[in-house]
Amino acid sequence: MVDEFSAKPTTAEILRWLREDDPARLARLWAAADDVRRQNVGDEVHLRGLVEISNICQRRCAYCGISALRTDLARYRMTPPEILDCAAAADAYGYGTVVLQAGEDPELTGPAIAQLVRDIKSRHRLAVTLSLGERGDDDLRLWLQAGADRYLLRFETSNAELFARIHPSAGRHGRSRIEMLHRLRELGYEVGSGVMCGIPGQSYDDLAADIALFATLDLDMIGVGPYIPHPHTPLGEQVEILRLPAGQQAPNDELTTYKAVALARLVCPQANIPSTTALATLNLAEGRELGLQRGANVVMPNITPMAYRRLYEIYPAKACIAETAQQCIQCMQARIESIGRRVGLGPGGRTGRTKTKPAEDVS
Ligand code: SAM
Repeated sequence: MVDEFSAKPTTAEILRWLREDDPARLARLWAAADDVRRQNVGDEVHLRGLVEISNICQRRCAYCGISALRTDLARYRMTPPEILDCAAAADAYGYGTVVLQAGEDPELTGPAIAQLVRDIKSRHRLAVTLSLGERGDDDLRLWLQAGADRYLLRFETSNAELFARIHPSAGRHGRSRIEMLHRLRELGYEVGSGVMCGIPGQSYDDLAADIALFATLDLDMIGVGPYIPHPHTPLGEQVEILRLPAGQQAPNDELTTYKAVALARLVCPQANIPSTTALATLNLAEGRELGLQRGANVVMPNITPMAYRRLYEIYPAKACIAETAQQCIQCMQARIESIGRRVGLGPGGRTGRTKTKPAEDVS
């Protein structure tokens, strides 16, 4: 195993692994990813409390169940006191990080989010991760100066033509998601990105290129999950428009997602990699645990209040049987301990990177 995995896999090797279906060989991939994970980020599993602060979105993404195209979905935006209550709960449960995620909601203005970040940072010793879509430099700088630590923006697929078909441009900032990831790094954020596996029209070659791009971008956080069709979205309704020739389409299944997680670990040994909710949605019994045993080291318990959570419907039947945040933490803790790992304490940022100096004053 040492010889086979002594160097980071090339794009050609990534491609071969994505097409591999021999269980004995795959067992070697899982073991290698688990070894690299242990050596680089240890046995701790960091918990990030996820708060879905608004399901209002002005984008028209063909894959996403909260896109502006959905006219049948009730919309919400949490109030600042509601969000601060969630941050307090994250702190009380011992999570080191709170993640504020939303659709691209124009009312979540730069100053409003900056005030929220300041309030969270002044009350709690929590790292703050933002995942608010494509935003301009002014907002990004303001949030960094308010104390935000990290930003998550998946590039979804590195195939620019496919991305343009499923993610119509807003034409506002004139830069791609990949350009924005570079900018986030320059500004001083810890940078997270990732992809969906098995988007209709995404080939095995595309997915291999995506994983190679994780290394080029030297990502601090990598989120990979299966694409899960939502029946009330254009892509969920008409897969055939993007159909590829037989044998080329990357599957949107559990196995392909584990391979992508394991390969992401091999190409970015020090990254924080969640075992995603989308993965647990495909296999509620043990999807999270298998992700953690095949390269992942983070889980993101959802602490959005229940009444809002059911409306943040990016895909149907998101995994979670817990009725309360308390049940959720107990469930996560038991799952982590059942595989011989332990819950990480503190913010659990990227190890081995010297933080870039934050950008100068915006004024
Ligand atoms: N608006 C922000 C953005 O676009 O980055 C954050 C919210 S967006 C709903 C969060 C992530 O949900 C996306 O990056 C995408 O990968 C994932 N997602 C959306 N629709 C999905 C689907 N049908 N299946 C799996 N993941 C999906």
